[in-house]
Amino acid sequence: AAKIHRNEYQSYRPEMTRTTQDRLRLESDLRKALETEQFTLAYQPLVNLATGRIVGVEALVRWQHPQRGLLPPGEFIPITEENGLILPLGEWVLLAACKQNKAWQEAGMPPIRMSVNLSMRQFRQHRLADRIQSILEQTGMPPEYLELEITESMTSDVEFAIHTLAELKALGVQISIDDFGTGYSSLGYLKRFPVDKLKIDRSFVTDLTEGGSDAAIVSTITSMAHQLKLKVTAEGVENDEQLRFLRERKCEEAQGYYFTKPIPANLFESWYRHHSQS
Ligand code: C2E
Ligand code: CA
Ligand code: CA
Ligand code: CA
Repeated sequence: AAKIHRNEYQSYRPEMTRTTQDRLRLESDLRKALETEQFTLAYQPLVNLATGRIVGVEALVRWQHPQRGLLPPGEFIPITEENGLILPLGEWVLLAACKQNKAWQEAGMPPIRMSVNLSMRQFRQHRLADRIQSILEQTGMPPEYLELEITESMTSDVEFAIHTLAELKALGVQISIDDFGTGYSSLGYLKRFPVDKLKIDRSFVTDLTEGGSDAAIVSTITSMAHQLKLKVTAEGVENDEQLRFLRERKCEEAQGYYFTKPIPANLFESWYRHHSQS
């Protein structure tokens, strides 16, 4: 047994080393990527379920890596959250999203809401509200059209969260709690947070069949949100059945592959034109 153990150890070791090297490599690539604008944003629409209209769009970051190709955020956002690069990256995302919104306005597109994800580090960043204010001013973005998405984990320090959210709300922006239902947010505090909307996590929407347990969760979150005067968005909508269920529960908005995957800005523009005509 000892021998087998040693063999396992020997074959395991190089793997570990490679992983660490790979990770270090990605970190240094990330620094370069920020300087050379290798990041892009993909856009996914949010649709009002009562009217069928496109009411917003979420900006989702991607990394066009020179060797590895287009990387999804799951492959680099966690690293940037650990090493702090999320702060400059997050600022780039906000700026790029607001600039894009402005460009769409100038191209004659009707105004729609732009949603941007905030990370924990950003949420705790010194003078976050001032930074966002400055981006709004620089880009001429009307604050009421910017929506910031936070997660439940950011609300665990309740007093800090209430204070920070109040500062953000004072800018005139909208705030939603993303991936709702997956964290451990204290429901008792929900009414104290100055937020506008809950986004029900995709994991509850995926198996949304009448009578199932996810159906019960989605119905409960939706009615609770409505009683607290919060709006509800369902993420990850992929089929008619889910859509019908959400409409019946008076869920305000939906987002998901059913409408389209996140797409580059120019494609979104034509997608939008096409879908607002029909
Ligand atoms: P999220 O904020 O929950 O974003 C929604 C994710 O679900 C996106 O993945 C989107 O492509 C995916 N999605 C949307 N509709 C469907 C569907 O119908 N089916 C399935 N299977 N998936 C769907 P993406 O773009 O890979 O982003 C993953 C996560 O990375 C985001 O989850 C968000 O937490 C994070 N992220 C993305 N951009 C940023 C950013 O700029 N800053 C920060 N801090 N995080 C970001
Ligand atoms: Ca989000
Ligand atoms: Ca989400
Ligand atoms: Ca999610």
